[in-house]
Amino acid sequence: MIVIQPFATVDTAHVNEVKKALSQHYALQVVILPTQPLPRTAQTQYIPEIARLGLGNRYRADTLLRHLKAMKPKGADYIIGLTNQDISSTKRIKGKIKHPTWLYTDWGLFGLGARPGESCVVSTFRLYRYTDEAGMRKRLRKIAIHEIGHNIGLRHCPKAHCLMRDALEKMQTIDEAKEALCDSCRRIVKKRIQ
Ligand SMILES: [Zn+2]
Ligand SMILES: [Zn+2]
Repeated sequence: MIVIQPFATVDTAHVNEVKKALSQHYALQVVILPTQPLPRTAQTQYIPEIARLGLGNRYRADTLLRHLKAMKPKGADYIIGLTNQDISSTKRIKGKIKHPTWLYTDWGLFGLGARPGESCVVSTFRLYRYTDEAGMRKRLRKIAIHEIGHNIGLRHCPKAHCLMRDALEKMQTIDEAKEALCDSCRRIVKKRIQ
């Protein structure tokens, strides 16, 4: 079973969209939990350069993953948190923070999922750029399917249009992906969840 944890004040229509997408792609029951506030412990530290970009109030995605894992109900295999707030994580390359460090210490994300793991989180905050509501929802569906894919154990996939392709910091990668896993990713999912 997958449970969806909506964080206030994410749009209910977006929560339902994610439920639909996950039910269509994974042979698991999908249940929506009652909305909760975002944990204050996940709020980011103040970084002046980030605040100047108007991106001060963010939540650490890795803290959210731990929080979600701890609140996952018994009987659920995976928990996905949904928020309309900006989420971020420290981006490292071979253990070192990517340069410029002021930017990558608190790098904004679309989503993050433990691999393999039991929790993932998706933010709608960055999904409206250069698109309308319909385009935004397409992105949201793809990112949710991608992050649960990581939880199930999927790595980034080299196939051009596979949904498990690494977005490489670009929305374009997500827009170009089909809402489908390639055959080899699908085979791995089948093995793990059936
Ligand atoms: Zn990924
Ligand atoms: Zn693939």
